[in-house]
Amino acid sequence: PAARKYTGMVEDCCCDYETVDSINEEVLHPTLQELVKLPFFRYFKVKLWCDCPFWPDDGMCRLRDCSVCECPDNEFPEPFKKPYNGLSPDSMICQEGKPQAAVDKTLDTKVFKGWVETDNPWTSDDETDNNEMTYVNLQLNPERYTGYTGDSARRIWDSIYKENCPKYPSEELCHEKKALYKLISGLHSSISVHIAYDYLLDESTNLWGQNLPLLYDRVLKYPERVQNLYFTYLFVLRAVTKAADYLEQAEYNTGNPEDDLKTQSLVKQLLYHPKLRSACPKPFDEAKLWQGENGPELKQEIQKQFRNISAIMDCVGCEKCRLWGKLQVLGLGTALKILFSVDGDNNLNQPLQLQRNEVIALFNLLNRLSESVKFVHEKGSSIEEVIKEQ
Ligand code: FAD
Repeated sequence: PAARKYTGMVEDCCCDYETVDSINEEVLHPTLQELVKLPFFRYFKVKLWCDCPFWPDDGMCRLRDCSVCECPDNEFPEPFKKPYNGLSPDSMICQEGKPQAAVDKTLDTKVFKGWVETDNPWTSDDETDNNEMTYVNLQLNPERYTGYTGDSARRIWDSIYKENCPKYPSEELCHEKKALYKLISGLHSSISVHIAYDYLLDESTNLWGQNLPLLYDRVLKYPERVQNLYFTYLFVLRAVTKAADYLEQAEYNTGNPEDDLKTQSLVKQLLYHPKLRSACPKPFDEAKLWQGENGPELKQEIQKQFRNISAIMDCVGCEKCRLWGKLQVLGLGTALKILFSVDGDNNLNQPLQLQRNEVIALFNLLNRLSESVKFVHEKGSSIEEVIKEQ
């Protein structure tokens, strides 16, 4: 096998690359793959309405197959209200019409029984049940290439990076801002990996397959993007293991006792796996953050920035991308809530309580990251050869 490209500790984390790859491939990936197929984890409640509060004038949400944009003038920061320069009319064509971008909303009759309704200070979603909510079977809607590209997609990423988590000139930025940047960049890498893993290679014959040059161009060529993917994976894994007691006791009730027992036992197997517990007992050390003099203010600032990122997901102009964007940002928001907003926190000394949708998002996000880490590990060392051959 080719030599490993990434060795040593994952930056700002507590495990090394070799360990991450081995626990991922032996424990997490196989367990998560099984888990997300079970009824509890495969249905996600989401408002897929294109309810974009930013860029009121660009017409994005008024096109056919998109939805009406109310654009309320509320608390969002000024930069978001400015019209975006350089957006050509062509680029505003909504991508919803493409078959690969559409969400399959057919569902079987399994019920989605609600857990508690509880707030998440890190996200902007209102989870209250109403008729705008759709229940989506995630298994019918894999995250993959959708054709969503161009200025509209670029604008979302640009605004996330520019307005919310500016790329850090390393020595200037505090740990916390750096962590937010890395979380988003790691998620971005993972989305790109999924596009490369499942790509529409030939539209005329509807041939899907791996696009390795794309994997290289968007992710592998940039070591920082790979490092951030591992960082995000370990961060989310830490949240899941920190919430182990809660997650173990939660009710995975979908009305099908056999499936539900299996869910419970797989969750337990994952949380307490001896290899995970011994090889990487604390994937990330959250106690290092918010320790400075202005910790509490900084936390509020970053929380607000993350809420904005969560709100921007309503502006993603492709339904399937919006679905996975919302799910994964909710998953990250849930990890942030577990690590920083409950239990032992000086400001918010409350016990952990998660919504059903938060748990679904958290595990599905971890599964997506785990798939990305596996694919990057498999292709990472040999890809330069592959690219040269093509
Ligand atoms: P982009 O991926 O759009 O990147 C824009 C710029 O960001 C790059 O030029 C680079 O400067 C920087 N950048 C790229 N990667 C990183 C990184 N990891 N860390 C830091 N900076 C980075 N398309 C699909 O086909 N399927 C999907 O499911 C899908 N989901 C999406 C979900 C969201 C929330 C968004 C915003 C977009 C989604 N897209 C999806 C679109 C996709 O992410 C790309 O925007 C699109 O494929 C165009 O890619 P690009 O090469 O222009 O670069």
